[in-house]
Amino acid sequence: MAIRVLPPEIASRIAAGEVIERPSSVVKELVENSLDAGATRIHIEVQGGGIRFIQVTDNGCGIPPEEVELALQRHATSKLAAIEDLERLTTLGFRGEALPSIASVAEVAILTRVADSPVGSYIHIRDGKTVQKASRGSPIGSTVTMRNLFRSVPARLKFLKSPVTESERIATLVSNYAMAYPGAKFTLLMDGRRSLDTPGNGSVLDAAAAIYGGETARSLLAVSCEERASALYMAMTLKGYISPPSLTRANRQYISFFVNGRWIQSRVLTYALEQAYQGFLPTGRHPIALLNLSIPSEEVDCNVHPAKSEVRFRNEGAIFTLVQKGVREALLRTSPIPGLLDRSTVPSPSWQARPLSQQPPSAGAVARNDSETKAASPLARSVLPVLRVVGQVASTYIVAEGPDGLYLIDQHAAHERVIFDRLRSSREPVQLQGLLEPAVVELTPAQDALLQKEAIRLKEMGFTPEAFGERSYLLRAIPASLSRNGPARALQELLDGALAEEAGYDQAEKLGITFACHSAVRAGDSLSQKEMEELARQLEDAALPNTCPHGRPTLVHLSADHLEREFGRR
Ligand code: ADP
Ligand code: MG
Repeated sequence: MAIRVLPPEIASRIAAGEVIERPSSVVKELVENSLDAGATRIHIEVQGGGIRFIQVTDNGCGIPPEEVELALQRHATSKLAAIEDLERLTTLGFRGEALPSIASVAEVAILTRVADSPVGSYIHIRDGKTVQKASRGSPIGSTVTMRNLFRSVPARLKFLKSPVTESERIATLVSNYAMAYPGAKFTLLMDGRRSLDTPGNGSVLDAAAAIYGGETARSLLAVSCEERASALYMAMTLKGYISPPSLTRANRQYISFFVNGRWIQSRVLTYALEQAYQGFLPTGRHPIALLNLSIPSEEVDCNVHPAKSEVRFRNEGAIFTLVQKGVREALLRTSPIPGLLDRSTVPSPSWQARPLSQQPPSAGAVARNDSETKAASPLARSVLPVLRVVGQVASTYIVAEGPDGLYLIDQHAAHERVIFDRLRSSREPVQLQGLLEPAVVELTPAQDALLQKEAIRLKEMGFTPEAFGERSYLLRAIPASLSRNGPARALQELLDGALAEEAGYDQAEKLGITFACHSAVRAGDSLSQKEMEELARQLEDAALPNTCPHGRPTLVHLSADHLEREFGRR
């Protein structure tokens, strides 16, 4: 497609703001342009931390002579034609802002040639003005050179770190792209020193070996996980490599996520990753991870951040679960210390009948408290607004106030949703109640068949029955939340509940729904203020806060508008 200036109605829908913050942002934009141009060789040269000099040379498609000047205009792009394209981006660039943004804060020269042109074109821009434009000999592809970043904006220069730190950022960035695009050969020269040279043979591990060394690369564990299409989730895949528990780093610099080929920063995904490592790593240590998520493009919005370094997921909870599950599976496959499953076989000495107030924070809550996250990732926002609990009605409904009116929460349905989501994401082990005397449970053939088939799932829920004669089992502990009616009934009723569930879900799902239903507070239970607040918080963080696992509403909203109308205030 030819380069053209986006019409204003598209340009205005593009996340505006600072594209170029530091030298590594320049490298990122130029490398992304090379990848979009189909390059298989990308050579990067940097001097003085990228403040003095950055040059990116590629063997991509090049820019036709008549379009070179246009490429430097704001909102001129060859990658986006219609508004609808914003919803299904296949290129890394799409807003035509990078080159003009760089040219507005530095000196830029472009030498480029397309295959069907005998010569290349050269353009040199200083202080935003074209100082030279000429035909020049050039190989096919493009070389973009930047000099003296922020010379004309000294205030921004002051915000940069030392050249050494900026160089490190560039090296990290290029390393990440080299591993995410192993089909391209990346070379990086920093102040004349070759700091990276990947083979570009398509192998992620070979690229990783060029970066981390052969021994580290060989020890990495493969992650491969798919979330099947169903009513809730479109097909999504997670692929990549993570370090085994024996290989750790002191910071999170070695963790990177790519979403549909785009390098993104996400506290939430990092949290999901580290959660999966829980019990495997000493505190203060972090894994190495290179994880690529493929998500249907309508499920992810890339147009939320000026530097395109953050994205928004339509169903963040599902992505969180996918990352956590994929990483956990990879760790469990290769490691003999099964954290979650094992822990649930050890009865915990103390337990709470209604463990509402002792739960570790969920992803959203942590994102809110973590000061590092304050940089306002739109990802940390949950679907429900923050609610202030006012009180309880009929020991069944929680009355709460939100930014727009009144909310009535069905305490049972809401708690079901919270428990169900937590179980599915295996964010934390189920709390157990140890039994002083082991209990014997006799099962019907149907109950027994389900128990045999879903033994792993039941174990995750806190049941580890030991065979004790035909269809008869010994229980030494049960999930604390099901302890109301005694151990035997807890298991029998859970199995019966799942067997009685309507068709349409698989059996593991049905067990989860029943577990949530039997564990949740009931209508008629009176709750303390603290318990209600805790439940409201947890519901705010749920992936699908508005319905219980059966699809019943968890809350009813009376907007301020509605109230005013009802009371004849307008
Ligand atoms: P965007 O990438 O969002 O389209 P840019 O300002 O980064 O905007 O680039 C503008 C246009 O210049 C691109 O759409 C592309 O057509 C062209 N271009 C930039 N860099 C290259 C390159 N290395 N190879 C080929 N074309 C390029
Ligand atoms: Mg671009």
